[in-house]
Amino acid sequence: PRNPATHGSAASQALFDRARVVTPGGVNSPVRAFHAVGGTPRFVTSARGPYLLDADGNEYVDLIGSWGPMILGHAHPEVIAAVTRAVSAGTSYGTPTRPEVELAEEIVARTPIEQVRFVSSGTEATMSAIRLARGVTGRAKLVKFAGCYHGHVDALLASAGSGVATFGHPDSPGVTGAQAGDTLVVPYNDRAAVSDVFARYGEEIAAIITEAAPGNMGAVPPEDGFNEFLAATAHEHGALFISDEVMTGFRVSRSGWYGIDGVAADLVTFGKVMGGGFPAAAFGGKAAHMERLSPAGPVYQAGTLAGNPVATTAGLTTLRLADAQVYAHLDRTAATIAGLVGEALTKEGVPHLPQFAGNLFSIFFVDPTEVPRVRNFDDARSQAQHRFRAFFHAMLDGGVHLPPSAFEAWFVSAAHDEEALERIASALPAAARAAAAA
Ligand code: PMP
Repeated sequence: PRNPATHGSAASQALFDRARVVTPGGVNSPVRAFHAVGGTPRFVTSARGPYLLDADGNEYVDLIGSWGPMILGHAHPEVIAAVTRAVSAGTSYGTPTRPEVELAEEIVARTPIEQVRFVSSGTEATMSAIRLARGVTGRAKLVKFAGCYHGHVDALLASAGSGVATFGHPDSPGVTGAQAGDTLVVPYNDRAAVSDVFARYGEEIAAIITEAAPGNMGAVPPEDGFNEFLAATAHEHGALFISDEVMTGFRVSRSGWYGIDGVAADLVTFGKVMGGGFPAAAFGGKAAHMERLSPAGPVYQAGTLAGNPVATTAGLTTLRLADAQVYAHLDRTAATIAGLVGEALTKEGVPHLPQFAGNLFSIFFVDPTEVPRVRNFDDARSQAQHRFRAFFHAMLDGGVHLPPSAFEAWFVSAAHDEEALERIASALPAAARAAAAA
């Protein structure tokens, strides 16, 4: 296969130059811009199985997987066939359809929730879950964790405050103090901080929201019993426990992180895998809570393209194809890749720490003698990011496309086979040397 070390990226560069004229930063979602690693983002023209093909004809082993959805690999023939049939029947009607019912049944059967409502993005899912939690409890405040990302919901763009129970300061201009002021931000995996914030504001807290197992500061799994503790603490104070499974849902097991730790949240959000690569997401929970939503109840929520028949067909087909063998393959492949990376970095004396949240994983460029475990955002931020940048670019030159940030999990698929693993293995020695020299 061609790779950029020999073939260059002139066509991507030309597209990026055009894009920057008409689109802020040249991209439609910030992390795509290579802001954290520098250089030219690759404009992808097609993808198949574990590979991406860019505008210059370079081929890469893909470890982004569209940031989570593509558990079967790209352009899976059965998904493409089902989607093609769905498209030929018309693409959106603004009426209820059969695939929505079938996907809802599939999700309800796999998870602790009794009812589900479809939306078009993970952001909408968490935004709506929060509105519902506030509607159900009649309370305003939210607890979230520093380093957990739940989409660009105004109230959740407050992750700034470290230390115990700081009132959220907006992370972004345009988010007002009022929008973020009801958000209480606490450090992840810190039970004392959670207890403190509930001791002080318990009566005012509508919900605590957490990534079921965080992947947005790199993979930082909950410590044993942490989610259970969060659910119990919320319930003691009459608040709801919201588990954000947008990233982990249907990826780390057929039931998401719930399939691993078995903690049933009051409300759960989903996205990514359940849309099979199309814009689809969802939130759900106990019927008693969900029945408070419009039109059954007074909490308003709606969407023109929500439950779109093409998207729900893609999601349903993906879920039905993701059998036990697929999940076993994802787990095995994640472990193999992390092992290969670890060997290569160790050989070059580069301090690093692999961490897993199920089959989500990342390699932290920390010194494990100083940081034996990355437990929270502050730990994650102590990484030697310059080493990641050098490593990232050498891997890209070697034909492996990692997520372009040291704070992202890496995503594998059922299509990552021996050949893909060999390509990763052969890119690694040069990347480890680059990381060592950085
Ligand atoms: N929650 C989590 C845990 C996520 O990882 C993401 C996206 N990476 C979102 C919510 C937001 O989803 P979307 O980008 O579809 O709005």
